[in-house]
Amino acid sequence: MELVSKDSGASRRIYIVDAHHHLGVDVDGQSNRNPAAPGGTFDFCLRLGSHLLKVLSNEKVDLKFQPHGFLKELLESEEKWRETLNGTWVIDQTVVFPFNDEFKWKEGDEGKATYWRSNDNVYRWVSRAPYSLKLIGYSRMVPLEGEVAIRELHRSITQLGLRGVKLHPRSDGWSNEIDSEPVVNFLTEAAKLGVPVIFDTRGFNQVVDIASATTKARTKLAKIDKSLARQLKVIIAHIGFHLSYDELYTVLSHPNIYGEISGIHNAGIRKLFEEAPHRLKESLGLYRSWSEKIIFGTDFPYFDVHHAVQFISYTLSEDFPGTIEDAQRILGINILRLIPPKLRSLPQKAESVHVDKTDLPTAKRMLASKMAKLFSEGKLDISSFEVFLSLPPRVSVRDDCLLLVKGKRGNGDYFPFIILTMMGLGVIARLDFDTSSFKPLISRELGFDDFPPRRHLYNVLWPNTTEKNQLEIEKKICFLLKPLSGSEGEPEEKLNAS
Ligand SMILES: [Zn+2]
Repeated sequence: MELVSKDSGASRRIYIVDAHHHLGVDVDGQSNRNPAAPGGTFDFCLRLGSHLLKVLSNEKVDLKFQPHGFLKELLESEEKWRETLNGTWVIDQTVVFPFNDEFKWKEGDEGKATYWRSNDNVYRWVSRAPYSLKLIGYSRMVPLEGEVAIRELHRSITQLGLRGVKLHPRSDGWSNEIDSEPVVNFLTEAAKLGVPVIFDTRGFNQVVDIASATTKARTKLAKIDKSLARQLKVIIAHIGFHLSYDELYTVLSHPNIYGEISGIHNAGIRKLFEEAPHRLKESLGLYRSWSEKIIFGTDFPYFDVHHAVQFISYTLSEDFPGTIEDAQRILGINILRLIPPKLRSLPQKAESVHVDKTDLPTAKRMLASKMAKLFSEGKLDISSFEVFLSLPPRVSVRDDCLLLVKGKRGNGDYFPFIILTMMGLGVIARLDFDTSSFKPLISRELGFDDFPPRRHLYNVLWPNTTEKNQLEIEKKICFLLKPLSGSEGEPEEKLNAS
């Protein structure tokens, strides 16, 4: 979303991510079967946009909803994608996860995890364009299923490529067993994979139990490796339900715990922002910001646009106690920081083309139109799109992005493409990485500093020469896309699904 000053024309972009959104069909009758259908996710975005326009635009400010960075070029080149996502750009990305789905498990599934069918369903939606350009998928599990749940966790992250986990103690009947060994083990495994875990919460006793299980998981991880303890990321959904408990802020100051706000509205929003800044500052100390701990989410379809309009407009109003950076953290950056970029491991080498910054827009358009053509020929799909962030303390969403481009021919391999500017140069690269290991990139913060993984990435992408000739740039881009356009062979391996 862009806030544009009518006087000066100056604009400020706010990247908004909905960190709590359901996809599927619940046994309670709620559903969001198809994100593009009337009443679905994209329709929700459209309605949210038109409401916000009424609330936020005035004689001084205008609102604009446009896709971010390379998505703009990509959608300009591909009409079908553009039309499906048209009008939805008030929300840049939406984290989707299963309901208590009516199709989650069938007779004959004995020995399988309860939600395996739901997880496959989310995977099928989020891993193909144009849905993959907006949706980030999480899986759902019942940790009390022990080994079965751990196996499903690994399958959903490493095979399906989902990016986090939703747990619902009440709806899955384990409210009284949150602070238990299977849950601690589950959190430990999720941390090893680098993914966040969001818990539904009802009743403050659940929040206390989640905090206790999180502390136990942290201790366990720290014994293995201190850096693993930092990878533990627990999100408490619906913190608005617990505002009458002072201890909420003690729980949220835990180094591994964050709070998501869906369900909050009216006076609750005011109360949260009257208390959170100083209560969190007291317990977080000097070097952490209170606004790192609060995450925007909608819980669609359980809550509709009114809650989201109230919350977003409050964070951008005079009453909000923080800066616009604090608002940007809460509305999108905090959740992005918890979800690592989708690369199995650091790239070993890259095929790339380097151009002057001024030539980058043309090069991006060239790449976008070639990708669109390959898509229309049935040779390419995009299984994920994601952005990078600036290094702290500046909080902003960079134009740089990573796309996992999937060949539809050959063995259906996917290729990570990275498009970024570094040191004033434009880089478009196809990354080559070691497929045998799974060591996810921990952070999506990008910039040149001493942190070894980032140093390594910059070294891999460092240019030999800069290409100035347009024809040569085009040739190199064709070369980057060659593995998609060229090879023919085995049909794509089918996912073992229903
Ligand atoms: Zn929910």
